[in-house]
Amino acid sequence: SVKESGRSSHRYYDAAMDKKSYGNLSLERDLRKALEREQLLLMYQPQFELATGRIAGVEALVRWRHHEHGLISPAEFIPIAEDSRLIIPIGEWILYTACKQNKAWQDAGLPAVQVSVNLSIHQFQSNGIIETVSCVLKRTGLEAQYLELEITESIAMQDVEKVILTLQGLSELGVKISIDDFGTGYSSLSYLKNFPIHRLKVDKSFLDDMIENPKERAIVGAIIVMSHSLNLSVTAEGVETMEQVKLLSELNCDDVQGYIFSRPLSPEDCASRLVENVSYAGRRP
Ligand code: C2E
Ligand code: MG
Ligand code: MG
Ligand code: MG
Repeated sequence: SVKESGRSSHRYYDAAMDKKSYGNLSLERDLRKALEREQLLLMYQPQFELATGRIAGVEALVRWRHHEHGLISPAEFIPIAEDSRLIIPIGEWILYTACKQNKAWQDAGLPAVQVSVNLSIHQFQSNGIIETVSCVLKRTGLEAQYLELEITESIAMQDVEKVILTLQGLSELGVKISIDDFGTGYSSLSYLKNFPIHRLKVDKSFLDDMIENPKERAIVGAIIVMSHSLNLSVTAEGVETMEQVKLLSELNCDDVQGYIFSRPLSPEDCASRLVENVSYAGRRP
């Protein structure tokens, strides 16, 4: 039967469990303690407005400083956090820390920018998400307009009715919503017109090929034109060359985020970058 074969394949899997799986188990154990051990930290990557060269926002990107393995990337531990539901407390910590940091920068007199926070699927689908965001804004004192939440295209396409309700609830708080990694999933702009969202982030994979491949360039151009007609801003992510910047500029892309202008920065380095943002206002980065 299905059940039996399920069990035997499970046993087979146990027997064949490789080192990586054991590694994941111990990582999960350590991840449970990472918050109380204060091993998680946020880096902030500036997003630049193409028309002015100014920083319009920063994306909070989490890192885990593990006591033995050193710095672990979110691509590695966010999936573990998702599977173990640790993503709920961890996600809340990320949200709180990013909002608190942004408020601290504002209180220090730095020019106000938006902070973008990535939401993972279980976090977005959890019942308390609207309440959590509202609570974090109250506790940190950050105005809602300075928070943007990033959800991936694949999250947005899960249960469209429910997604719209959640997005509406978040939108009513006054926070902005963006669709991350746009172009990698199956969503279409016709779906997105029903979503209360503000921005699309075009995935790096399009931008990589854009220079050599005119078709890829045409797709990026079309995404930008359609987004603008739906009143959405477009951020290009993972921009690494001036050639890409020039093309994106010609295509009327709104913002760029990428190593060409800045890597993810520590809070201190990001603050310095924000200070320059005032004195170099109007210049290209
Ligand atoms: P993402 O949200 O699409 O974030 C952009 C990723 O691209 C970041 O990787 C960033 O460092 C990297 N990046 C930015 N510019 C460039 C560039 O010019 N070249 C290249 N090669 N890469 C660039 P990172 O920080 O390793 O994060 C990877 C993914 O992990 C994120 O993709 C996001 O999906 C997830 N993630 C990161 N932080 C969080 C978080 O706080 N919560 C959740 N749920 N997920 C997070
Ligand atoms: Mg993101
Ligand atoms: Mg992305
Ligand atoms: Mg990505």
